[in-house]
Amino acid sequence: MRTTVGIIGAGPAGLLLARLLHRAGVDSVVLESRDRAYVERRQRAGILEQGTADALRAAGAGERMDREGLRHDGIELRFDRHRHRVDLPALTGGRSVTVYAQTEVCKDLIALQLKEGGPLLFEAEALAVEGADGGRPRIPFRHQGREDVLECDYAVGCDGFRGVAREAFPAGGRRVFERTYPYAWLGVLADVAPSHDELVYARHERGFALLSMRSPSVSRLYLQVPAGTDAGRWSDEEIWDELERRLETDDDWRLERGPVTQKSVTPMRSFVHEPMRHGRLFLAGDAAHIVPPTGAKGLNLAVGDVVTLARALVHEKETGSPDLLDSYSATCLRRVWQTERFSSDMTTLLHRAPDATAFDARLQSARLERIASSRAAETDLAEAYTGFPLG
Ligand SMILES: Cc1cc2nc3c(=O)[nH]c(=O)nc-3n(C[C@H](O)[C@H](O)[C@H](O)COP(=O)(O)OP(=O)(O)OC[C@H]3O[C@@H](n4cnc5c(N)ncnc54)[C@H](O)[C@@H]3O)c2cc1C
Repeated sequence: MRTTVGIIGAGPAGLLLARLLHRAGVDSVVLESRDRAYVERRQRAGILEQGTADALRAAGAGERMDREGLRHDGIELRFDRHRHRVDLPALTGGRSVTVYAQTEVCKDLIALQLKEGGPLLFEAEALAVEGADGGRPRIPFRHQGREDVLECDYAVGCDGFRGVAREAFPAGGRRVFERTYPYAWLGVLADVAPSHDELVYARHERGFALLSMRSPSVSRLYLQVPAGTDAGRWSDEEIWDELERRLETDDDWRLERGPVTQKSVTPMRSFVHEPMRHGRLFLAGDAAHIVPPTGAKGLNLAVGDVVTLARALVHEKETGSPDLLDSYSATCLRRVWQTERFSSDMTTLLHRAPDATAFDARLQSARLERIASSRAAETDLAEAYTGFPLG
């Protein structure tokens, strides 16, 4: 099998890259190890930055998002039983975010790719990337039990944190930066209307809680739990009780309960792989970097990478100049590190570390008070939350 751009992984990064390339007349083949139903059901992110929503629209993939997505102009910070609303457009010159689940983004992109785009092979597991520093990379893969090889001019690892593409980088030519956190998120999906119309980020002495949503009738809620927690050990009632404690306020706000339809634990990690390019192999999305979910950035970073990469590949095709491909890694890493900083800041601002002292707790309150009382501090948060510009 032969193509111009061989893409490993049909998560948001691989799917959007294939879509952008198709619109620019560049051939690609996408290899995805899982089946279609699994990829479309995998519950993950749900907050799209303004730039991500704009990128999906520009790719012709924004129609259902514009119909069903929820535009959010604010988030709420809760601490010491108080509520503080951050008005995103007022602080950022009109920018907002859109609540639209990653499952729906993937469904839309898969449908478009199968209808109009190049081959998208499910149950096709890439085994390696070979010859990335030569003229033509090769991707051996196994598709429904048969072995084959994809030959391409460029290979792109959009294969997430546990993919194979990173392994093709020579040991001496890469560096990994990593931090793990001693806590995780217990997340639930519940068939109940959200108890607040915007996201609520709560810092509490018992730990962090987040009230979020997937639609007007489905709530997405999270609790900070110790790393390694087994989701099955929390009953639905215990989860609702704990959410109520951590989210409670001095006013008459109440948490609505409903049937829990899904429960899972997400570990928290910060990770960056430098560089994001080796020869004719590029990394994009979670294959290159992971952020803790507190800032709602993972999916948005992945989109930023592939918009930058698609532009560079199209530029090379149209002008013959490799300039943008050569600067791809440095361009993306500038945005990646700003996002790593923000995600880490939000995480340490709102979570209770197991060894936290009373002094640490007071510092967290002081940092939150500062955001609530200083337009400069609040603007800093709002600018990062709605997204850093693409490089
Ligand atoms: C459990 C969980 C919860 C999350 N929650 C949030 C959240 O609330 N908010 C937020 O902003 N972000 C969240 N994230 C992060 C966000 O979902 C990711 O940043 C986003 O999915 C990145 O997209 P991607 O395309 O780079 O990688 P992925 O979505 O991981 O896609 C990679 C794809 O590659 C495929 N693949 C892997 N190896 C191979 C191979 N060898 N051959 C072929 N295919 C392969 C995988 O099956 C997968 O489909 C969460 C992540 C996880 C894991």
